[in-house]
Amino acid sequence: MKELNDFLLNLFTGEDEFRPAIFFPNLKDGVVYATDTHVMIAIPEYELSLTYNTNENFPNAKKQFDDFEVANKDSVIARVADIAKELVKARIQVDKASVKCEECDGYGRVAWEYCNRKDKTHYKYEECPECDGEGSIDKTATFARIQLQMIEDEETGNLCGISIGELYFHPFQLYRLFMVALLKGCETIEIFYERGAIGKTVTYFGDIKVLVMRLRH
Ligand SMILES: [Zn+2]
Repeated sequence: MKELNDFLLNLFTGEDEFRPAIFFPNLKDGVVYATDTHVMIAIPEYELSLTYNTNENFPNAKKQFDDFEVANKDSVIARVADIAKELVKARIQVDKASVKCEECDGYGRVAWEYCNRKDKTHYKYEECPECDGEGSIDKTATFARIQLQMIEDEETGNLCGISIGELYFHPFQLYRLFMVALLKGCETIEIFYERGAIGKTVTYFGDIKVLVMRLRH
């Protein structure tokens, strides 16, 4: 079932146009890493069915895990079913890339002309018919995938994340960890974190490691 691990790598890649190195998983010293800078997964090469390239501009992923392993750690155990119960409260969005409308150059309005019976031309600035006045056109991203939004509190309207013990996560970050747990058939997971610090958490699935940044409460 190595193919499932290739699938997992793709859940963790990033789409930051300023950091093209993170668009793809990256092989380094026998381990393939994928990250969007909020989450990161490390899978040994022998657990994967595809071959991966090495890009020297990829972030130093191994160091992220090594630094964590020497830190003073606590852990919390979470039931995967409980995480699912929280995740369904988050709104799902398919990510799209917006491109500027070339017709109106992003202004959303263009000059319309009307020629009357006396051959006099009238002009008016109105909604651009190409983009319906939006100034941009949505196109599906190359690697379209779902994203989970923060959860809207029904009473206050505030946007909330998901708490697990004293940890607090953005639903989209937790969703990636959840998907690994699900595909690995785990009923519970043990999330390790640095005591008293915000920042990294790491969960181990055999020789696969998943790093998730936590939010400030
Ligand atoms: Zn337009």
